[in-house]
Amino acid sequence: MNPADESRTAKALAQEIGEICSKTSGPLRFMEVCGTHTMAVHAAGLKSLFPDNLFLVSGPGCPVCVTEKRFIDEAMLIGQQHDACMATFGDLVRVPGSFGSLATFRSEGGTVRVVYSPMDAIDIAAAVSPRPVVFLGVGFETTIPTIAATLKTALARGTENLFVLPAFKTIHPPLRILAAKEDLHGFLLPGHVSAIIGSDSYEYLVRDFRKPGAVAGFEALDILLALRDLVRMAVDKSPAIINDYKRVVRSEGNPVARAVVDEVFEVSDASWRGLGLIPGSGLALKGPYARFDAAKSFPVEVPEAKDDPRCLCAAILTGAKTPDRCGLFGKECTPEDPVGPCMVSSEGTCAAYYKYGAA
Ligand code: SF4
Ligand code: SF4
Repeated sequence: MNPADESRTAKALAQEIGEICSKTSGPLRFMEVCGTHTMAVHAAGLKSLFPDNLFLVSGPGCPVCVTEKRFIDEAMLIGQQHDACMATFGDLVRVPGSFGSLATFRSEGGTVRVVYSPMDAIDIAAAVSPRPVVFLGVGFETTIPTIAATLKTALARGTENLFVLPAFKTIHPPLRILAAKEDLHGFLLPGHVSAIIGSDSYEYLVRDFRKPGAVAGFEALDILLALRDLVRMAVDKSPAIINDYKRVVRSEGNPVARAVVDEVFEVSDASWRGLGLIPGSGLALKGPYARFDAAKSFPVEVPEAKDDPRCLCAAILTGAKTPDRCGLFGKECTPEDPVGPCMVSSEGTCAAYYKYGAA
């Protein structure tokens, strides 16, 4: 589509959204579950097109943001006490822990290697052997299959000095908690995660909570189309799960990727920033893969982590607050000097507000 057609279609969709929203006087609040949607919404200034009674709030879909401070602390202690080389995706390096970030750890002589694929960690392990390499296992269903495939390769090759510190999360358990909130009227469902778990897997939102969901791509038009479907279903009180990203997401997802994950991991409990401990929302290494677990191989005493009480990340990740309500936003907390993870991550809500403004 050329830019002129795109702009015309966007205006038409925005008008349609406005007309549907005008049929109800009450507020309509939807949650964008995915951090990349947050960024895309703000980058395109989509909120400026919304009618006054339509609100889009952020959810727990940025894997870096929902990872608790304790995880950073544990990683740093393992690095310090066991002379481990830390391998991680870049976003995690500047997330503040209780005694600095991994960037601090590096500036104090520790080794932190940024990887673009978990497979890179195998090469790093070969290069520094026998020194332990600890990959920081943060991510959702999108990332987890490649980490599972990496561990299968490491097991087959007999790589003995590679470990994973697991903080993996799965999206359905927190969505069930959020779907019970009466002031949320539906969900803009994540594109990449849905490509793995499939659009059919969200049926419980309709069955158990009478809430609509729309799987969306990441272009402005994708998001507006999904929002049009969401407002229509909410106003008509006819909830369903609509897949508006059929060019990537299938109803059954990707069973091959899920099978690799099932071979390496088993369901466990996990702690989420903003939501606390959610039973069955994490993944633990199982069977022959349990030996890769860095937390078990390198036990460290992790003191209780305390978040800055002024940081609203926890409320932002559950859609209860927006970054402009935080007194530190843009003052003490900026992307250059972040206080909370929502300002660090490239998918963080505070970073999106800072870069593009509230609209
Ligand atoms: S992994 Fe994909 S679906 Fe999940 S938050 Fe990131 S971009 Fe969104
Ligand atoms: S602006 Fe900074 S301190 Fe405030 S909620 Fe966001 S990350 Fe936390």
